[in-house]
Amino acid sequence: MRSSTVVVGGGIAGLVAARELARADHAVTVLDAEDLGGALAHRHLDGLDLDVGAEGFATRGGTVVALLAELGLAERVRAPEPNGTSVYRPGGSTRIPDGAVLGIPTDLSDTGLQELDGDARARAQQDATLPARVGADATTLGALIRARMGDAVVDAWPRPLVAGVHRLDIDQVPPSVLLPGVLDRLAEQGSLAAALTGGGGQLAGLDGGMAQLVDALAGELTSHGSATMPTAATAVEPDLRGWRVRTSHDTVVHADRLLLACPPWWWPSGLPEPLMAVARSWPAPRPVDLVTLVLAHDGGAHRSGVIVADGGDRVRARALTFSSAKWAWLAHQAGDRAVLRLTYDAVDAPDDALVQMALADAGTLTGGAWSSADLRDADRTRWAMARSAVEPSMSTHRDAMRQALAEATDLDATGGWLAGTGLAASIADAMAAAGRIA
Ligand SMILES: Cc1cc2nc3c(=O)[nH]c(=O)nc-3n(C[C@H](O)[C@H](O)[C@H](O)COP(=O)(O)OP(=O)(O)OC[C@H]3O[C@@H](n4cnc5c(N)ncnc54)[C@H](O)[C@@H]3O)c2cc1C
Repeated sequence: MRSSTVVVGGGIAGLVAARELARADHAVTVLDAEDLGGALAHRHLDGLDLDVGAEGFATRGGTVVALLAELGLAERVRAPEPNGTSVYRPGGSTRIPDGAVLGIPTDLSDTGLQELDGDARARAQQDATLPARVGADATTLGALIRARMGDAVVDAWPRPLVAGVHRLDIDQVPPSVLLPGVLDRLAEQGSLAAALTGGGGQLAGLDGGMAQLVDALAGELTSHGSATMPTAATAVEPDLRGWRVRTSHDTVVHADRLLLACPPWWWPSGLPEPLMAVARSWPAPRPVDLVTLVLAHDGGAHRSGVIVADGGDRVRARALTFSSAKWAWLAHQAGDRAVLRLTYDAVDAPDDALVQMALADAGTLTGGAWSSADLRDADRTRWAMARSAVEPSMSTHRDAMRQALAEATDLDATGGWLAGTGLAASIADAMAAAGRIA
């Protein structure tokens, strides 16, 4: 008889694991409380299909590209346009140098460092001639960059980037956490700029949006005879043959094995207590609001992305993506319209008020001249963001979780919350989980 598995959660991790299991001839049922895809979500705004969750992926390691190729989507992979990113402070914005890795410049020429004043530029350029041992014993990323390139570089770009993207203090995070192997490469190459050249993670997206990945995976599951059910798993209990899973529609699904592919704060009741103890102590997610704006024109704006280092009393957004400048396929579809997305720490305001705030922030951050009359459509989506895997405390939680899972019977778990946020990490983890089950 075929082995059967219930996958709780149809985000990218659950769908990828389900596909692997279906291909290994398991009978698979995927339960999802909301829409399949989880953080790979899209909305139809002013006639455009727009990602309102993940919009791209890291090409490093090749995991995502390999999956896309298997699903027949490889020819839709696109690199973003080179519009760059700026860092906003109330005094003005500075553009992050092209080719910078985590905001650390890799081009030390006068042109590459033109945003810095003369003294700061000369200090940064010392990186090329200082002995390789300078910074070799740095215990934090901030100390490493400061030793090699000086204070001004640290504060101009890497500090706000590390805070904005990873929510970490650059003076507390060890160099290798965000830049694995950087100290070894510094010893080999002799300068920090050289150590980082060519080593930056590349981002790519899909022509038409990332949500196509969900449709492709769901289609494959159907063709393998797997079931997807739009319902939450509310409670589980072990039975003679594995697990009974009760759903929010008051149905019961039986399976030999259970794969938890949603974060612990959404798990059903009835799981073994050692696992629940680790789940209860799992750090709470950060609620984030993502606002997508479709505007009638580009308002004469600077068309780069923006990381907000300090919004002062004018800007509440933490980051802005000028989506229709970043993705050529979207620019083509949008025509004269501009599509922007702004990220907020959850704002306690109704949708309309937040959209108006986003419109004002977009103008301040990009210099675009827009009024409410230019707003063609908008969306606000609230996300529960899992903690970044690189937060120092997370390794303890992850180790405890992996151990509790290893001790559980006919039960496993996967997802970005465990593997590290990001599609590449989630997909790799899901494949490994499916391998353990199969
Ligand atoms: C706004 C945003 C932007 C992002 N941008 C990027 C990006 O550009 N590039 C990138 O690589 N990564 C990005 N990420 C991260 C990436 O999207 C996630 O790491 C990844 O999608 C996580 O997938 P997952 O399957 O582990 O979890 P999820 O996507 O959270 O899926 C979990 C699923 O489980 C379901 N569920 C929950 N509880 C139950 C239950 N009891 N029963 C049944 N179903 C349940 C949920 O409905 C959900 O569909 C972004 C994330 C967010 C939120």
